[in-house]
Amino acid sequence: LVSRKKKSEDTVVTLKGQQIGNGSPQFIFGPCAVESFEQVDAVAEQVKAKGLKLLRGGAYKPRTSPYDFQGLGLEGLQILKQAADKHDLAVISEIVNPAHIEEAADYIDVIQIGARNMQNFELLKAAGASKKPVLLKRGLSATIDEFINAAEYIMAQGNDQIILCERGIRTYEKATRNTLDISAVPILKQETHLPVFVDVTHSTGRRDLLLPTAKAALAVGADGVMAEVHPDPAVALSDSAQQMNFEQFDSFWNAIQEYLGVH
Ligand code: PEP
Ligand code: MN
Repeated sequence: LVSRKKKSEDTVVTLKGQQIGNGSPQFIFGPCAVESFEQVDAVAEQVKAKGLKLLRGGAYKPRTSPYDFQGLGLEGLQILKQAADKHDLAVISEIVNPAHIEEAADYIDVIQIGARNMQNFELLKAAGASKKPVLLKRGLSATIDEFINAAEYIMAQGNDQIILCERGIRTYEKATRNTLDISAVPILKQETHLPVFVDVTHSTGRRDLLLPTAKAALAVGADGVMAEVHPDPAVALSDSAQQMNFEQFDSFWNAIQEYLGVH
């Protein structure tokens, strides 16, 4: 169902009037994790000031260590909704448990399925059964074929509102947190009719690489870029090394605008 052979025209996902997959790139910004209303509200204000409409934030955080911050859960989703409503934004947040999908539907506009859950088939089926758009991230060690099949699980349940997200894969290279597989973008665009995003934060794990990789993503035809922004990354409860502060966010955004020829 996700194959280009089955449907030649591009699937477009519309959120708050922003069309994802129609040829002009869209952007998702927000903190790694929801920490407080004040924190999310401050980021949402910056996002809105740029005329953007899409806000991310993790409430259920899939952390490598059980002793690291696990996220605020349902309270985090409520905070996201409150901040997003205040600034007229759409919310993207990761759900890790099929049982949470129904209650999350009241608070979020897009269900994110994270890299670690790309092959959690019960979660994929539950996301497919809900009629919410889904942002599906590529698994840490997933081949492109496995990634496409994961999207197929969602669409097989009748939900075609899927955004694919390349977020880097695990290789022997240690200079970056993961290795951004940039060629996955044109391959996914050729093989499927779904919009393709690139997450520059988790693929690189390095603040200094956010801009060059975002430009690369746009150059190879990505439908959008996701990156993390935090009021004070030094004290962030997760991903402190790669989130942008507001000043860095401004320069990132200005450079992207210039790159795209928007003045
Ligand atoms: C995230 O986007 O918050 C996240 C945890 O990313 P990934 O699943 O790609 O590691
Ligand atoms: Mn993060």
